[in-house]
Amino acid sequence: PQPVLAVVGRPNVGKSTLVNRLLGRREAVVQDVPGVTRDRVAYDALWNGRRFTLVDTGGWEPDAKGLQASVAAQAELAMHTADAVLLVVDARVGATETEEAVARVLRRSKRPVLVAANKVDDQRGVSDVHSLWSLGLGEPMPVSALHGSGSGDLLDAVLDVF
Ligand code: GDP
Ligand code: MG
Repeated sequence: PQPVLAVVGRPNVGKSTLVNRLLGRREAVVQDVPGVTRDRVAYDALWNGRRFTLVDTGGWEPDAKGLQASVAAQAELAMHTADAVLLVVDARVGATETEEAVARVLRRSKRPVLVAANKVDDQRGVSDVHSLWSLGLGEPMPVSALHGSGSGDLLDAVLDVF
């Protein structure tokens, strides 16, 4: 069976856009409405001749427990069912309480965790990335899911941790 990468993060940080970018095709549902991806969806990905499965975990709505608990639960599930986890953060917003809660969950993970600092569309955005070291999950990797910059380095890093 091929390794599985679960993509987690708050609504609207660009998880589905990034999944599409990493796949090199348009499949995951992207919309401006937060939480629009209804289900956890798995896609077959291929990079440098290696296959893996990408899971877009945007399929939850904030429930009675609230957004933070929901995203934390999503991360918990991801780290038990995937071989590696990619936490996507909107670098323009930085780490919110939700990311801090998720990071607490993910730091206990025995699986590798990568942090993508998304929406770094231009050079000005680069300065936002460094603050994400505070999550304690290693080096945040700048990407623009919209433009594609950084996606090759991110894919290389993903294959390295499998
Ligand atoms: P999700 O809820 O985390 O799956 O987020 P989506 O992929 O649906 O994206 C939410 C919004 O962010 C959409 O309007 C995207 O076009 C936008 N977005 C995603 N990635 C980027 C990026 O790299 N740069 C910018 N500027 N916008 C992005
Ligand atoms: Mg989505």
